[in-house]
Amino acid sequence: MATGKINVSVENIFPLIKKFLYSDHEIFLRELISNATDATLKLKHLTSIGEAKVEYGNPQIEIKIDKDTKKIHILDQGLGMTEDEVKKYINEVAFSGAEEFLDKYKDAGQDAGIIGHFGLGFYSAFMVAEKVEIITKSFKDEPAVHWICDGSPEFKLKASKKTERGTEIILQIAEDSTEFLEETRISTLLTKYNKFMPIPIKFGTKTETLPKPEGAKEEDPAPTQEVDNIINNPAPAWTKKPADLNEDDYKGFYRELYPMQFEEPLFNIHLNVDYPFNLTGILYFPKLTNDMNIQKDRIQLYQNQVFVTDNVEGIVPEFLTMLRGVIDSPDIPLNVSRSYLQADGAVKKISSYITKKVADKMNSIFKNNREDFEQKWNDIKVVIEYGMLSEDKFFEKAEKFALYPSVDGKYYTFEELESKIKDSQTDKDDKMVILYASDKEAQHSYIETAKGKGYEVLLLDSPIIPHLIQKLETSKEKISFARVDADHIDNLIKKEDTAISKLSDEEKDKLKEQIESVVGENSNFTVQLEAMDSTSQPFIITEPEFMRRMK
Ligand code: ADP
Ligand code: MG
Repeated sequence: MATGKINVSVENIFPLIKKFLYSDHEIFLRELISNATDATLKLKHLTSIGEAKVEYGNPQIEIKIDKDTKKIHILDQGLGMTEDEVKKYINEVAFSGAEEFLDKYKDAGQDAGIIGHFGLGFYSAFMVAEKVEIITKSFKDEPAVHWICDGSPEFKLKASKKTERGTEIILQIAEDSTEFLEETRISTLLTKYNKFMPIPIKFGTKTETLPKPEGAKEEDPAPTQEVDNIINNPAPAWTKKPADLNEDDYKGFYRELYPMQFEEPLFNIHLNVDYPFNLTGILYFPKLTNDMNIQKDRIQLYQNQVFVTDNVEGIVPEFLTMLRGVIDSPDIPLNVSRSYLQADGAVKKISSYITKKVADKMNSIFKNNREDFEQKWNDIKVVIEYGMLSEDKFFEKAEKFALYPSVDGKYYTFEELESKIKDSQTDKDDKMVILYASDKEAQHSYIETAKGKGYEVLLLDSPIIPHLIQKLETSKEKISFARVDADHIDNLIKKEDTAISKLSDEEKDKLKEQIESVVGENSNFTVQLEAMDSTSQPFIITEPEFMRRMK
């Protein structure tokens, strides 16, 4: 048996680890399962290129709790380690990483923001364990080894009888961490961090109900069998090619991500880049209301299928934090603080890529199925309008698909609106005046008057509309917005008279009579001819306000 001293220059590293990671002890499990996954994937690679001449098989990772001995076991069937590798990777490398990390973040330790966003890999085990053991056998033809460390910089290394390839990590759970011996606690953690990891993870067994055998009586209980309880889906939708997925797959994955969410998403956006950085993911537009107090933090961030955080502020542009879904990038550092993430160049590129991709997808949905897009506009406008307001790049792109609905339920793009009103709604400075209502009920009579004059009235009722209007007015030349109840709408100039308004008074009277005879003499409707000079409506029929309300 060998003993030795772990190579580390920071004295008493364990108290430091405990202190720094205080509020986030739970990530030890994520770290150890990540290592087990890495070890398995490395073996897969080595066998596929013929460097490891062993059977890869169907490896699993298993988590076991032993309440009697107060131990947690994490077992894998990965590539294992030789004695030399344990010395190198466990005793030296991991510690130098920890040391570098602590150097970097010593002073930031008080900042609660960084807690929860870093781990120390293998050594995070000491946050919850008073003793850690590694029993490992390499795929190489070398004897197994057993490493034991009680949390001091001293370790023991001895031979082991382990015959199967792979690694077992055994944690002797410390007195202050016995919560991790509870099955429900571990199973919650597995669901949070490991639900989509690429290697099947077994945690206990579960009872599966089998179909009844033929000829079984009604009252006979269905047969059952015990099967492995695999807690993860190793091949989640976002890791697949968009071409291999249909609408139902996307909806199914949405329910997998948000089991408590019963409303279906409106759109999905499959992200898939490998240059200049790697990023995959699926974003969903949930049904949103006008309410701006929308709950954020619903996009989950993963790194190689390991959950990192659901607080993506600073990683995706703020307006997109209203979306849901998953982003996975190996380029997002797993173990660093939020402020570091926000300053990171790769993360910034990711953010602008996502913005671009969302805009492109919106544009293609708009072009391919405008009717569907119009129908969903009310539910997505908050995100798009907010995006236009806060991201200039998005504003430029959204020009093509942002919609401006009229009070009559028509939907215009800005360009369409412009060509519709440019000749009929200008003011004395030759500015195009866009009329809008913010409340169809309260501004009803103004709307009717404006419509009576042949003007197009938009219905713009999102809470951020005043800001968006300001932005549109400053970024475009010669346009201005006016609410229907503003007085200067009386002074709009029409550039050209329309054909109907050129009728003589006599002809107009005749036309009015004809229309009235159709509408019915005793009705409460009024035929208005003042509107006859409008380009869109030859005349309008109005109903008194009181009649409208009686209905
Ligand atoms: P990192 O995973 O970032 O390299 P860790 O501290 O988590 O850092 O692990 C240090 C090293 O120990 C790993 O790189 C790996 O070589 C080795 N290791 C840890 N766990 C295992 C395991 N289950 N199987 C094989 N090697 C492992
Ligand atoms: Mg690791």
